[in-house]
Amino acid sequence: MSESGWKLDNSYSRLPEVFFAEASPKKAASPKVVLVNEGLAESLGLQVKKLSQEVLSGNELPEGASPIAQAYAGHQFGNFTMLGDGRAILLGEQLTPSGNRVDIGLKGSGPTAFSRGGDGLAALGPMLREYIISEAMYALGIPTSRSLSVTLTGNDVLRETVLPGAVLVRTASSYLRVGTFQYAAARQVPEDLKVLADYAIERHYPEVASEENPYELLLGKVIEQQAALIAKWQLVGFIHGVMNTDNMTISGETIDYGPCAFMDTYDPATVFSSIDVNGRYKYGNQPGIASWNLARFAETLLPLLDEKQDVAIHIAQKQLGRFGEIFEREWLNGMRAKLGLLDEQPEDEALSKELLLLMKEAQADFTNTFRALTDESGEQPDWFSQDAFCEWRKKWMKRQKQQRASISDSNALMRRSNPSVIPRNHRVEEAIKAAENGDFSVLNQLNRVLAFPYSYSEEQAAYGVPLDSTVPYRTYCG
Ligand code: AMP
Ligand code: MG
Ligand code: MG
Repeated sequence: MSESGWKLDNSYSRLPEVFFAEASPKKAASPKVVLVNEGLAESLGLQVKKLSQEVLSGNELPEGASPIAQAYAGHQFGNFTMLGDGRAILLGEQLTPSGNRVDIGLKGSGPTAFSRGGDGLAALGPMLREYIISEAMYALGIPTSRSLSVTLTGNDVLRETVLPGAVLVRTASSYLRVGTFQYAAARQVPEDLKVLADYAIERHYPEVASEENPYELLLGKVIEQQAALIAKWQLVGFIHGVMNTDNMTISGETIDYGPCAFMDTYDPATVFSSIDVNGRYKYGNQPGIASWNLARFAETLLPLLDEKQDVAIHIAQKQLGRFGEIFEREWLNGMRAKLGLLDEQPEDEALSKELLLLMKEAQADFTNTFRALTDESGEQPDWFSQDAFCEWRKKWMKRQKQQRASISDSNALMRRSNPSVIPRNHRVEEAIKAAENGDFSVLNQLNRVLAFPYSYSEEQAAYGVPLDSTVPYRTYCG
């Protein structure tokens, strides 16, 4: 182990060579670290004070690193393409003090073998955005990649204008994707596909290795994890924005924070991404798209599921058929928690859906509706005085009283389940703008608030106010 705590292994680089290309980070002219995540560093076993700007910018490699770009393919907005890390470099897998193996890599560190004409670079703004939102997701309790640092490179990045370049250091339990399997399947070398599947099992679902059909169970596990993940997104109003199959992990973690954003006003048709013109990835479509992506995953596994392809298809369909049921269950359990219900009653689904319908009609803010239900001493929305809502509230009160749990248990559950603050789009923009002008205080303050989304302090409340704007918010790919 090095002085700064690096303890890297490179199991992914021991896969067949077709799965990656060696890569070397571009030199940063004058690196300057602008953000470091002390809590994450500590959990990785890294000494924050000894992490040099040379390493965090990619100018120097940490001890034990084996820098590579991963090969993968993917359906982008429904179209199959061969891809790969075009602006990311995996340094290796950090073996953490608590015994985990965590992918750690650079983003925005220059071109790789998969850059397809792109510059492999990233501008400061989008890297700060990924840092803020991924860490907010972590604090919300949603499985996600995380952000360790953002470092200015001193290099210019040419977009519509010249922008300051930056490198993000990010981690994930792995960057294995549905697209990694699509890449293996497209090459039609069955041995390579099997090596990849065995590797994914060993890393994420070792318990299935000794089962009779481990590949069926791998499929089943990924379906379960993704169904649970998407339910969590829906329950906080997170819109990923670019749910291409290359952005969907085998581990069930959220990755690729490009055009994502949180919904303010509740509307299943909400889309933020400027390139998602048909609304393929709108809020209300996320479960359906996840299910479609998982079908693409299942297809890649067909040669492994059974020698007889009709049997393999049957197995795949059986597993895929579980997605809807698992998603609905996870979502409904999440809604019960948001409504302070500790037990289950058949009317809970209708009760939940009625509320959403009222919210849509009232153009209610998603987060603040649940916050107001949780904290009745806080500000209550005007539309709560409407008859339809009063009727609903009566039903809800009646339902709450039917349960054995005490009111205080019920309220405690609501406080754990309804964030009082999310990364509001205008707050994120404001923080990034100040940072681009050299003032990081706004961003640091925002990150401090977002680290405690379930705290109902006055500060959280101040950051919870949506921007009253008629101009729709748009996100762009950085
Ligand atoms: P994404 O939409 O973020 O999942 O990216 C899709 C593909 O484009 C991935 O293979 C990325 O690595 C690649 N890519 C995105 N931006 C750049 C860039 N500036 N230079 C090279 N490749 C890029
Ligand atoms: Mg991506
Ligand atoms: Mg991206």
